[in-house]
Amino acid sequence: MTTELHEFTAEPMIAYFSMEIGLKNDIPTYSGGLGILAGDTIKSAADLKLPMVAVTLISRKGYFTQEIDAHGWQTEKPVVWDPSRYMQLLQHKAKVSIEGREVHIQAWLYTVISPTGGKIPVLFLDTDVPENTPEDRCITDYLYGGDHAYRIKQEVVLGMGGVRILHALEFHIKKFHMNEGHASFLALELLLRFKRDIESVWDERSVWDIARVRDLCVFTTHTPVEAGHDKFPYPLVKQVLGEILPFDFLKDIAGKDSLNMTMLALNLSKYVNGVAKKHGEVSQHMFPGYHIHAITNGVHTFTWTCREMARLFDIYIPGWANEPELFVRCGSIPELELWEAHREAKRQLLDYVKQVTGDDFDLNVLTIGFARRATAYKRPHLLFHDIDRLVEIAEKNRIQFIYAGKAHPHDDSGKRLIQGIYEYSDKLKNKVPIVFLPGYNMDIALKLVSGVDIWMNTPLRPLEASGTSGMKAAHNGVVNFSVLDGWWIEGHIENFTGWSIGSPPNELSKPGESDAEDARDLYRKLETVIIPKYYSADKSPWTRMMKNAISKNAYYFNSHRMMRRYVTEAYIR
Ligand SMILES: *Cc1c(COP(=O)(O)O)cnc(C)c1O
Repeated sequence: MTTELHEFTAEPMIAYFSMEIGLKNDIPTYSGGLGILAGDTIKSAADLKLPMVAVTLISRKGYFTQEIDAHGWQTEKPVVWDPSRYMQLLQHKAKVSIEGREVHIQAWLYTVISPTGGKIPVLFLDTDVPENTPEDRCITDYLYGGDHAYRIKQEVVLGMGGVRILHALEFHIKKFHMNEGHASFLALELLLRFKRDIESVWDERSVWDIARVRDLCVFTTHTPVEAGHDKFPYPLVKQVLGEILPFDFLKDIAGKDSLNMTMLALNLSKYVNGVAKKHGEVSQHMFPGYHIHAITNGVHTFTWTCREMARLFDIYIPGWANEPELFVRCGSIPELELWEAHREAKRQLLDYVKQVTGDDFDLNVLTIGFARRATAYKRPHLLFHDIDRLVEIAEKNRIQFIYAGKAHPHDDSGKRLIQGIYEYSDKLKNKVPIVFLPGYNMDIALKLVSGVDIWMNTPLRPLEASGTSGMKAAHNGVVNFSVLDGWWIEGHIENFTGWSIGSPPNELSKPGESDAEDARDLYRKLETVIIPKYYSADKSPWTRMMKNAISKNAYYFNSHRMMRRYVTEAYIR
């Protein structure tokens, strides 16, 4: 046992399980929002000195590096990285049984160390050990890669392997937190561990101590659509796991037709939550019979504040990074200094744009950013719904757009969306400057959310469970212009913290139906409200909104506040 771990195993811990964790740009074990949230969770836990240990997969080939070819088509390259540059390989191993073979699991230790002195160990599970077959050595290679069989094996390693490695390392775990259903096999593992040693003729199921498992488990769901939940056909489950428990019982707790990881987590967790108030309601609707709470997401304040803004906050709001509530004092920052700090961040973003695309973007032009996973429900093409209208607006006052985002490697429709942006960019050349930045990652995200003037989001309601990039923007005084869904329902005050697009959140939209209406509202507001305010000779109204974004949005939508809520509502009950 390393001395390093000793300091963590002395007291009871909360174990946080996530398929992906984005701690920093160089450790490519994340794909997007879910992983970044996990990373922000752990960083806040470290700042707040919470007793927590995190478990995830090593993803030796990462998610992928995005490249765009001459036709605007996304291609993927595996990420090559060396865990030993950042982490320490631990001696203890665990085993799980997969397809009747023993699969050995090793763990890499990465310790998140906060300036407050708080530390959180993060265990990255890895099956690339010589004892394993060549096929099994690849289980922890590709994040969200492969087929159903590959995915279930990964989830067995994460959930069951994770519990076993914590046990081998002598951690005392008082709560297990599943970040999304990918981790639900941890609850199954606990069920097997707590099996009662009794013979009861009248109820053979009383050997399963569900209540004890539920007491230990917390589940956060992130997906507001049924189709988004991981489901595995039972024949596959049987092939991979064998009859680890009677299947008629398993079907009772994990779903009749297929093993649904969300159902499994719902049935084996005492505390369940969605990631924004609206998402909690939508999830409650989807799962009647379960009580779904809501804890709205936040982002890690220090990570997502650009250097220029941080310098300003250090002067006018000392202590802000570990106490984001102090943003309430944002009014004390002189308007001109705030504007100049933003201009500097913008200059750096536009330099980066020039460097990677060759395009000259103008520092004095209203710049709108849009970056997220390229998938239909995010509607990246809403802006182009009526091209003539867009051009008409841009002819009167100049506007420019910066896009970024990855499509899942198997998602050709997502790749077509990216290609579409290239086509629009070409078509509108000399009229509306539009650029797509390839390779969206944490570094590019920070450049974008701090360097544009407005952050735009146009999801189809109610499919944006929370959304977090808009919270990052707010930390940098960048104002949101978004559809009222997810976190923005809670953060939006019209013309004060930002602007809405489309109808109020109580009206759910259907694909296609609301596009025209939402686009109309987008154009109208851009033309008659946002552009005049931005180009007004008096900069005060705009900088006041920047301050409101910080003092009202960043003040609340940070992961310190989120973690305090997890502690008081989920962990210590
Ligand atoms: C914040 C972030 C996301 C998630 O943004 P959403 O607004 O929730 O879609 C995805 N990818 C990267 C690299 C991020 O930094």
